[in-house]
Amino acid sequence: MIRDQFKRPLRDLRISVTDRCNFRCGYCMPGDRTYRFLPRAELLTFEEIARLTRLFVHHGVRKLRLTGGEPLLRRDLHELVAQLAAIDGVEDLALTTNGSHLARQARALKEAGLHRVTVSLDSLQSDRFQKLVGKTADPGSVVAAIDAALAVGLKVKVNTVVQKGVNDDELVDLAGFFRGRGLEIRFIEFMDVGTLNGWKLDRVTTAEEIRDRIHQVFPNDPVPPRVAGETARRYRYRDGSGSFGVIASVTQPFCGGCNRARLSARGSLFTCLFATRGIDFRDMLRSGASDDELSERLAAIWRGRDDRYSELRAAGGPVPDRRREAPSDDDVTSDKVEMYYIGG
Ligand code: SAM
Ligand code: SF4
Ligand code: SF4
Repeated sequence: MIRDQFKRPLRDLRISVTDRCNFRCGYCMPGDRTYRFLPRAELLTFEEIARLTRLFVHHGVRKLRLTGGEPLLRRDLHELVAQLAAIDGVEDLALTTNGSHLARQARALKEAGLHRVTVSLDSLQSDRFQKLVGKTADPGSVVAAIDAALAVGLKVKVNTVVQKGVNDDELVDLAGFFRGRGLEIRFIEFMDVGTLNGWKLDRVTTAEEIRDRIHQVFPNDPVPPRVAGETARRYRYRDGSGSFGVIASVTQPFCGGCNRARLSARGSLFTCLFATRGIDFRDMLRSGASDDELSERLAAIWRGRDDRYSELRAAGGPVPDRRREAPSDDDVTSDKVEMYYIGG
């Protein structure tokens, strides 16, 4: 098992399969600008993703999550799921989606070997939902997609990003709605990922506030973490009707247990969500590198990893900028990588 500079193992790989999305959530891809997406030939193929994933698994990865952009816009995604599910050592195979294309793909995904989906939903109110996602869309269809996923036997969680003055008045409604359906909802503090979303600390509803507000209506108790490195703090309702989670990425950072790597759709490895640099693997893959060469490079990168952006930011200190260190073939962004590009 390889460990980084802070002795953190490599356990979790998030794979972005596309940078495209049919929604324009303001905290991720604000709709007031145009985006240049990667041409198809620039994306890793399913075979390339599976090959790299096997090497990550060799180095300790046990959990995989497919993300994007909107991963279900990538054609025939179930074929990638089948290739990943067949890798020895993969214990958990999940997908994060906005739910818009989930209902009709749920069965194929499940049959291909997907274990779990996380569906993002920030509001149950039609007008508000449309404003939040920047498109004509209906929260009812996302709820229907959740039901379709459950019906085919997928485990489902719901993700809600909470923005003060935008949807924080809906916390109790959302908690109550999914509690009634026996699903765990996780409330996420609005994060300063990327450069486009105009993040300010005063737009963050803190995890503490989120828990308190729900507690007033649905009394609950903290649940001890199930595994090390768990990002969500979980709370169980006292009446036995299930649990909810809160992800305090801003106010209570969890860099100390962060065992996640992120692979971009064009094949660059990012070792932190707030990185300004991804390290290119695609050129190596396409110029005939052996598994040993790829594997050694991966291990060397992980061993050198010293990222802890959220902790440094929370402590008020300077956060490192590694752009200058990046060689020209790497996936260097002009600033922090954008959420729709790296996938959360
Ligand atoms: N399109 C898919 C979706 O929305 O579920 C997958 C990609 S999306 C980038 C992954 C997750 O990141 C979503 O749950 C989204 O709500 C969350 N997210 C995006 N921008 C965020 C931000 N600034 N702060 C917190 N969470 C964010
Ligand atoms: Fe698309 Fe997901 Fe980003 Fe919303 S959060 S714009 S659905 S990638
Ligand atoms: Fe991991 Fe970086 Fe987030 Fe810290 S800031 S938890 S190192 S991704």
